[in-house]
Amino acid sequence: MHDEVRKHATTHPVCRLRRWLAGAAGLLAAGVLAAAPAPLATPAVADRAIELQQFTPEQGLGNLAANVLLRDRQGVLWVGTEHGLYRFDGVGFQPVRTSVDPLDLVVNDLYLSPAGRLWVGTRRHLYVWDGSDLRRVADLPVDDLQRIAGDGGEGVYVRHQRQLWHVTADGLVQTVSWPQALTVGVLTDGPLLWLDGSLWTSCGPALCQRTGSVTRVWGAADGVPADDWLTLHASPEGELWAGGNAHLLFRRAGDSRFAAAAAPHPLDALDLDAEGRVLAASAGAVWRWNGSAWTSFSDDRTLQHAHLRDLLVDPASAVWLASGGRGVLRWRGYGQFQNWTTAQGLDSAPTWAIARDADGWLWFGNQRQGNRLAPEASQLTPWPAALLRPGWTDAMAIVPRGRQVWIVFNHGVLVRYDLDSGKALQVATHLGWAKFALADAQGRLWIGTHGMLWRVDNPDDAQPTAQALLTGLPPDTSFLGASVDPQGRVWVATTHGLLRFADGRFTLVDLGSHEPAGGFADVAVTPDGTLWLAPVKGGLLRGKADAADRIDVQDAGDPLLGDTALYSLDVDPVGRLWAFHDAGVDVHAGDHWRRLDHSDGLVWNDLATGAFHADSDGSIWLGTAGGVSHVLHPGRFTDARLSPTVLLDARYGDAPIRAGVAASLPWDRRALVVSLAQPGVTHPGEQQWQYRLDPVGAPAHWEASTTPWMRYPALAPGDYRFQARVYDPAMRAYAPPVGFGLDVRPPWWQTPLARLGYAVLAVLVLWAGWRWRHARLLRHQAELEAMVRERTVALEQDKRALEIAHQALQYEASHDALTGLLNRGAAIEVLVRLASEDGPPRRRIAVALIDLDHFKRINDTWGHLAGDAVLVQCAERLRTLAPASAALGRYGGEELLVVWPGLPGETDLAGLFAPLMETPYRFRDIDMHVTCSVGITWVRAGEDVNAILHRADTALYEAKERGRARVVRAD
Ligand code: GH3
Ligand code: MG
Ligand code: MG
Repeated sequence: MHDEVRKHATTHPVCRLRRWLAGAAGLLAAGVLAAAPAPLATPAVADRAIELQQFTPEQGLGNLAANVLLRDRQGVLWVGTEHGLYRFDGVGFQPVRTSVDPLDLVVNDLYLSPAGRLWVGTRRHLYVWDGSDLRRVADLPVDDLQRIAGDGGEGVYVRHQRQLWHVTADGLVQTVSWPQALTVGVLTDGPLLWLDGSLWTSCGPALCQRTGSVTRVWGAADGVPADDWLTLHASPEGELWAGGNAHLLFRRAGDSRFAAAAAPHPLDALDLDAEGRVLAASAGAVWRWNGSAWTSFSDDRTLQHAHLRDLLVDPASAVWLASGGRGVLRWRGYGQFQNWTTAQGLDSAPTWAIARDADGWLWFGNQRQGNRLAPEASQLTPWPAALLRPGWTDAMAIVPRGRQVWIVFNHGVLVRYDLDSGKALQVATHLGWAKFALADAQGRLWIGTHGMLWRVDNPDDAQPTAQALLTGLPPDTSFLGASVDPQGRVWVATTHGLLRFADGRFTLVDLGSHEPAGGFADVAVTPDGTLWLAPVKGGLLRGKADAADRIDVQDAGDPLLGDTALYSLDVDPVGRLWAFHDAGVDVHAGDHWRRLDHSDGLVWNDLATGAFHADSDGSIWLGTAGGVSHVLHPGRFTDARLSPTVLLDARYGDAPIRAGVAASLPWDRRALVVSLAQPGVTHPGEQQWQYRLDPVGAPAHWEASTTPWMRYPALAPGDYRFQARVYDPAMRAYAPPVGFGLDVRPPWWQTPLARLGYAVLAVLVLWAGWRWRHARLLRHQAELEAMVRERTVALEQDKRALEIAHQALQYEASHDALTGLLNRGAAIEVLVRLASEDGPPRRRIAVALIDLDHFKRINDTWGHLAGDAVLVQCAERLRTLAPASAALGRYGGEELLVVWPGLPGETDLAGLFAPLMETPYRFRDIDMHVTCSVGITWVRAGEDVNAILHRADTALYEAKERGRARVVRAD
């Protein structure tokens, strides 16, 4: 923090030095010069203690050096700091997003034109806020507050030291010729103000009024004492106020003179409160001028050490203070609460009872003893000496009655104090622990204690008496609270239920099923006849106060009071109900509840049971465990309505969106970011933010948040409606909502044309795929067909080869390899076939067996190959002599079989077979003479083959036997 302060000193030598000089001059004026209107000495302790809420970086204010405050037309508070611009959103401060580097934003002045144009003056440049960014208008230095002033239109004047410029709304900068008068004096700088067609500024120790090109200097002759004029202020009525080192100046429109008052301290910034009183920011305190006297306000911590730079009265909520090094301060409850603590002489806390006596003195009954406040006094005084007796402490109830004041002390002492004589009379002791006391319509005094209900029927007697009343309730009953209704009935809240006293008798009222365990802490009846009951266990019930034995009650239905344990209930003269508890006080007016607590300016949240006083001026006094609060204008709280919620900033991507406008923006991958503000909140940070972003036409769907920022990432294209509203729990009310429309246009790849393109492309892709697949199938089919063809050819070749092989096999199986004749099996097969055929008799079948004679000898003589050659040549000779129709076979070894269909029986058989033997057989160069023996027969009809062969064989045998080389027939 100290670094910050040093930095200012280096960055603004002129203006800071000037302020220091101003402070020094002020001290001189106050302490040394002692000019004609006797200046007031600056008191070490402020006249009044105030409650401040501090806003620092923890609450979002990035820079503690707050220079200037401004409330815009929507009620949003702006703060210019040494590093950047901030806005108050109802929770904390938000940096204003601009394209200017915050480090370059040394904001020294802010100015709002009549049409709402916000000018921002920084150390080097002059900017205009265009709603979403700062636009640099001119390169003019702005060094301090009020160096920018209006020009009656939308342009501004800017003063820097001795120079004056005029800047038009379009940014045209012109130097304004400066009268010689302005250069008079030591100090070279001063504030600037536009008022009613004139530009006002300081010129040396005087004030200058420039109208058109005419400049009038207002000096001592016009009521303007020589001073260093630090600040100028115009009231809504056109009055001009000027604050200087040692004076406060005032001039009503048209007056020919200023009125001056001595200022107790240099007045750095001025504003007017709701009552038209001047509030001035000064070092360590705020001063208020009520037209005849100054009152100083400070707290015991922050303000005394802060250098105040600017001050702003926000009629809705508070007084705001800009401090160098301590951030922004919110003065809670300004103009609404006046708080009384030990600083004003309160002897102790809690304060249990408050009442005003017939002389207009206000009495406080405290934990220790008590205080009185004289009319119009600003300090409390102790009770009269007659009441300062040992043991007379803890005054639970004070009841003024004519010229008497009755006091009930907690441990059961009842005292009557006489205003005229100043004497105190102890009327009773041992009444029990006191809870309440009140006077009824007949002037009787009722006192409730733990265990007993008492009444004083003769309060004016020299020696009054308190009598215990027979209520019919058990002896352990506590009588906790009471109320007298407009009909004069006395209602008493007890731990055993609700007691009513009417027509001289008590009734324990039947409340049916709503009778709570533990009874009631207090009861009240409002002028509309409503009976209010505070159960000891918590909550609030309401019914109708009437004379019936049974009264129907129901829950009062307030969400905040649902289970709050209420200490006491009181009714003020305009019919408001005040419900005390440990989190403040809830006020019911009309159909509306409003909670008041520390944030509103209440001195302490824990209220004291029954410490309530409704004053004749409509104000209300409340006692707490930490002092007394005077609610100056209760109606301002109960009648207050929330300001409309403000859209601080809404951006979709980079595009700003304005409240109440339907934006149509192209789709952006970045988020929609919304920040809101709730002006005029009395409970910063306690509001509920509700928001919704629904497609147009969709049902409302509210989301809740504790922060005023919303972020919607990845918004799908569509037409949306955004709405936000704020619920203030203390006010039980919604602020008027804010919203905008947002039509997110689809990106090109999501337009209908693009979708059509996708469809066409998809069709093309499908078609190409189908084509490709089809071609592949065709190719595949052709390949398969070729394969089949090849395979078929191969199979056919294989088949032919097989057939050939088969034929070869068949041949081999039926023929003899050496001779080429049929083998034995095949020859017999032919015989079997032919023998089974029924042939004509002339085609008889001859069967001949031929055996080579002495064949062994050929083998033995010329070798086996010679034998083979003989066999082969013999077969050839047989083929030659037999017809083709004859079957020739090798019967075995050197034995041959001939089946000869159609060989006539009368054939010359010897001649027939002679070729087999007549010529020699030849092997190489050897001639061999070979003979053979033949046995021949003819097949008989139906004969067995074996029998045929046997007969042929027998014939062969006979041929051998008969000398070989012959044919023997067997018929
Ligand atoms: P016979 O006049 O009583 O028939 O006297 P043989 O010697 O012809 O008859 P034998 O049965 O005693 O002998 C037959 C011989 O024929 C014996 C065998 O070695 C010979 N032989 C059988 N088959 C073949 C053959 O294929 N080639 C040759 N070189 N000799 C064979
Ligand atoms: Mg033989
Ligand atoms: Mg033989």
